[in-house]
Amino acid sequence: MLVVKKFGGTSVANKERIFNVAKRCVEDYKNGNQVVVVLSAMGKQTDVLLDMARDINPKASKRELDMLLTTGEQTSVALMSMALDSLGVPAVSLNAFQVAMHTTSDNGNARLKKIDAKRIKFELDNRRIVVITGFQGVNRYGDYTTLGRGGSDTTAVALAAALHADACEIFTDVDGVFTADPRIVPCARKLNVISYDEMLELASLGAGVLHNRSVEMAKKYGVQLVVRSSLNTSEGTVVKEESNMEKMLVSGVATDKNVAQFSVEGLENKPGVAFKLFHHLANHNVNVDMILQSVEHGGTQDISFTVTKEMADEALDVLERHGKTSLKCEKIAVAKDVAKVSVVGAGMVSNPGVAAKMFEALYDAGINIRQISTSEIRVSVLIDEKYADPAAQAVHDAFSLED
Ligand code: ASP
Ligand code: MG
Repeated sequence: MLVVKKFGGTSVANKERIFNVAKRCVEDYKNGNQVVVVLSAMGKQTDVLLDMARDINPKASKRELDMLLTTGEQTSVALMSMALDSLGVPAVSLNAFQVAMHTTSDNGNARLKKIDAKRIKFELDNRRIVVITGFQGVNRYGDYTTLGRGGSDTTAVALAAALHADACEIFTDVDGVFTADPRIVPCARKLNVISYDEMLELASLGAGVLHNRSVEMAKKYGVQLVVRSSLNTSEGTVVKEESNMEKMLVSGVATDKNVAQFSVEGLENKPGVAFKLFHHLANHNVNVDMILQSVEHGGTQDISFTVTKEMADEALDVLERHGKTSLKCEKIAVAKDVAKVSVVGAGMVSNPGVAAKMFEALYDAGINIRQISTSEIRVSVLIDEKYADPAAQAVHDAFSLED
């Protein structure tokens, strides 16, 4: 078997943990498997490097930031290879350049285009454990790039696809994917299985266990993933295509506090208004979510939408600049103290009543809904941030997701 094993920063944060990971890899190796290990930077090293950069030059270029950040992963793979060697197992560390992991040129948010598997295969055929830097790539000019925060998961999935691996395990500091964030909902339960689509909704909703693009890629190439703990041997959560497994009505509840709500009021009711509004925002790279347009009242209409909290000031600036001139709106309001709570479940496609049940739970808890949005397998509500935790708990209870 060829296995790809990815370990996050906390799993390699110090000497003891590095050896703990090394031993797990040796076990696989001694069972006759070919082992590819993908690592993140140690602990919070990526943040440390970013702070160092900010201290020297708050406006440092993205190219130089990537040059700096790639050293984090390079440190962990070299140390891991040394640890494996000291345990008597031949290993070799490779960075994105040495493997040849080609990406787009978009520094800080590059996308993987092609992975050259030759060198890795050669090393595996020579019975070495191959330890590869996550998160980084090389663009067509030969410069380093990075894939965006949390991008090592995507490196691992891409390698699993390129190498036609038999297993791809994502090791983290939690036991798997849960029905809710256990820090918010203490009785949350670990899921044994979840579909790619549900995981995608949860990942983008801030469940935080997997990099969104890694799930997209896993779905595209049919890579079955296991999310499991590096600190114990419990089985983890399998992420795969929905098969005949029983479709859960609701698999989980996600809470996202990184949300700000905008309402642009008194817009003209004529073609092109929404286009202009979102065009201005897109031009400034402001990503929007949860768009809602009101029906006409008194000759005008309102449009509400959400952005991440970091983007709120930028979005307000853009809207204020264009508000009077091209948008001709009467008022722009922004609320930063909001949160989004969502229920996700593949079974809701064919079962009515999920939204009603969620709204009932919120009503019983006395929580007001500011805005609603849905997809085929998700219902999300925007509420006051101070009610985010009780709302998640109430909805989790309503669907009896506890242990
Ligand atoms: N080290 C990078 C980060 O902290 C990538 C990763 O951990 O996946 O975002
Ligand atoms: Mg991560």
